[in-house]
Amino acid sequence: MTRRVDLRSDTLTQPTQEMRDAIATAVVGDDGYGEDPTIRALEDRFAALVNKEAAIFVPSGVMGNQIAVRILAKPGDLIVAGRGQHVVSFEMGAAARNSGIQFACVDDTSGTLALRDVLDVIDSEEDHQPHVAMVALENTHMPSGGTPLDVGDINALALAVGERPVHLDGARLFNAVVATGTTAAQYAASATTVMACLSKGLCAPAGSLLAGPASLMEQGRIERKRLGGAMRQAGFLAAAGLVALDTMVDRLADDHVRARALAELFATAFPEAQYDPESCRTNIVAFNHPQARQLVEELANVGVDGGTIGPRRARFVTHAGVSDDDVAFVAHVLAHFKPTKS
Ligand SMILES: *Cc1c(COP(=O)(O)O)cnc(C)c1O
Repeated sequence: MTRRVDLRSDTLTQPTQEMRDAIATAVVGDDGYGEDPTIRALEDRFAALVNKEAAIFVPSGVMGNQIAVRILAKPGDLIVAGRGQHVVSFEMGAAARNSGIQFACVDDTSGTLALRDVLDVIDSEEDHQPHVAMVALENTHMPSGGTPLDVGDINALALAVGERPVHLDGARLFNAVVATGTTAAQYAASATTVMACLSKGLCAPAGSLLAGPASLMEQGRIERKRLGGAMRQAGFLAAAGLVALDTMVDRLADDHVRARALAELFATAFPEAQYDPESCRTNIVAFNHPQARQLVEELANVGVDGGTIGPRRARFVTHAGVSDDDVAFVAHVLAHFKPTKS
């Protein structure tokens, strides 16, 4: 058995030929002096897409989130966020380690935060608890299975928290856009800052963007420097990013169709997981299973690579490197799969 289907992550995507050509011919300059025209074009492009005054190009989504946290909160402040969100659980404690900020975590099992839970945290300020500086949301919400947020929920939450800024971690914002038909600008409208990744489903080799008000983005540039994320002729990366925004958004719909097909297959193969395939609305199949780690290991042994995102939670992600043929292969594997009894 030599065939493999790699569903570990959409970060595995390779740059397209058009990206490679754009990289080869990109006009670049020293971004430290604001003189890389390709980076500036990408920043302007993203700012326009999310209808914010300015944007900054950053090496990674983590840095985009961390810059947002640093410009919107101070050491000792609380940030309200869902327990499973990337900024809370998958950034190695960066907000605490780098910036002295702590999280007030609320339940996000379903993908959305209950307004009541968020307001209760804020209300606790009255009871001698720390200042709540901001709310962080994630769209799509990865751990719940790539759930796209409802723009009405975001707006209602932003309205309810009043002056407090909302940061939208949109690592997979364009998956949400394609899944719901809500535009990036509509999603970002009531958020103060919004981050999106170019290097996941959009297939760019590296890079993310953070957008918001011009004055905050000026501060963001300073924080980017502090975190070591100021680059020089990084227009080579930005060139691929422009191609990503131009050519790779619409095709995310294919990833979503394939993920749903896989969701049906996994739900049938593992009824004990009680997984509802309809909950898969973008490119992430995630379900609880009592032997998730063992399952993932044994599936890898027969050519289907996935991962776990918690002790009993398995995850399989579709991306541009996964074809209909690959889905058929997974169907074949699952039809013959017999987990060893633990
Ligand atoms: C991947 C991801 C990030 C971080 O992006 P990197 O480029 O890997 O640093 C942030 N938030 C979410 C929801 C992600 O999935």
